[in-house]
Amino acid sequence: MGIESKAGWLEQVRKGTSFLLISHVNPDGDTIGSVLGLRLALLHMGKKVKLVCDGDIPKNMSMLTGHECYLKPDQVEGTFDAAIAVDVSSPDMMGASLPLFEAAPVRMVMDHHSTNQAYGDINWICRGESANCQIVYDAIMELGVPLTKEIANCVLLGLSTDTGHFQYASTTARTIHTAAALVDAGGEISRISKLMYRSQPMRRIQMTKIAYQKMHFENDGQIGMLDLTKADFERTGCTFGEADGLVNLALEIEGVRFAFLASERENGIKISLRAAEPDTVNDVAVRFGGGGHAQAAGCTLYMSLEEAKQTILEAIQAKL
Ligand code: 5GP
Ligand code: MN
Repeated sequence: MGIESKAGWLEQVRKGTSFLLISHVNPDGDTIGSVLGLRLALLHMGKKVKLVCDGDIPKNMSMLTGHECYLKPDQVEGTFDAAIAVDVSSPDMMGASLPLFEAAPVRMVMDHHSTNQAYGDINWICRGESANCQIVYDAIMELGVPLTKEIANCVLLGLSTDTGHFQYASTTARTIHTAAALVDAGGEISRISKLMYRSQPMRRIQMTKIAYQKMHFENDGQIGMLDLTKADFERTGCTFGEADGLVNLALEIEGVRFAFLASERENGIKISLRAAEPDTVNDVAVRFGGGGHAQAAGCTLYMSLEEAKQTILEAIQAKL
């Protein structure tokens, strides 16, 4: 465990000249918006910046400046003054980018997950903050970088996706004030919303149909569960990224306190956990080697799909 210091983190950024920014596997709007917003800020400060992600950047985020700059871990060459893991709750969430992080002379972390153990040398962690993009916004203000339209769009996209478009309990007055400042700076909230929430690929609609068909409920409807098999992904052509968030369909139902999605992957069963306030699921995720937020967390289980579903169901039932 390294030091946790916002001032130390900012100082390291001011004095370094070259940085590697790292997004987490299965990249979402927050890790991508954060990295791309930070990239523009660092470029403005005259730094050299490279971006890496073990995963594909979703097509609906290609409106963001710099999305095409992401490298795959095996494409990253050269050395850096520091590597920064951005919105990455634990080292394993870097996937194949982890050796690049570990090889950096200074390992930095910027994150908002409650389960983050401060695994970098210098960590800026705001546990429970609505989105990592809120911290990026704060960093930009601290560093005195002007808020351009390009930066505003990156930060606004992540702020929107990690708050369920300003609906989750983590949305505070400050979140809305930040969003307002970003819109003032040219952030295109309607364009972002259209791309993120109202332009679903037909593949995802096919997967949504399957998700509703398979959804079932336990404990008088307090637990909603569903699974997606390799065959479901093959049949629909839906990517893992495009299936992101389908677990929320089960949580949106009256009376459901806990929801989970078990998704069959190459090397294990990826579990997405959700809870409605005041219930929590990060404890369940941590118990099985994962992590996340109080009401949205995940882990991977190495067993059969049926065993994984039963294991998670029992862990949730123990909380009722
Ligand atoms: P999702 O269910 O959308 O994949 O993930 C929900 C939240 O939990 C995200 O913030 C994600 O970063 C975190 N998360 C998901 N899976 C894991 C995991 O295996 N390990 C850790 N540490 N965090 C995870
Ligand atoms: Mn996030």
